[in-house]
Amino acid sequence: MSWKAKRNGNIYCAPACGGKCTWEMYLKAKERGEHCARELGKGWTVRVSENLGWYATVLSPCRRIKVSVHPVTGVPVETLMGTLNTYTAFLGDADDIAGGTWAEHGDTPAEAVNAVVATARAALSKMNARIHGLPYWKGKQRAS
Ligand SMILES: [Zn+2]
Repeated sequence: MSWKAKRNGNIYCAPACGGKCTWEMYLKAKERGEHCARELGKGWTVRVSENLGWYATVLSPCRRIKVSVHPVTGVPVETLMGTLNTYTAFLGDADDIAGGTWAEHGDTPAEAVNAVVATARAALSKMNARIHGLPYWKGKQRAS
């Protein structure tokens, strides 16, 4: 089944989804993504995707950071712009389709992005400390 969304009145949904997602949900997700991209600055791009609802992901210019925008639940959809979203930033390789090696949340896009970079730096420091000063053992090596 196709993941290409079809518009039928207020429904905007792909056959493979089947969640009767609406055109309004799509527009809201797009708006949330654009707001997030503007907050993060030049070169960040919005990707809107569907899976039982419409979701916005914002990609860094280098594409290693992906920020997913989550509307706060229990709040009327009309009020979901800007500060009422939460954000999850993922840090991985540029060609990771989803997610990344690290993920952190934030109440603003910058908070989430700074948190994920800090977490990655801390993890790498810890790894570097773990291997610091280990010698290279000479001796017999397996013939390759
Ligand atoms: Zn759908």
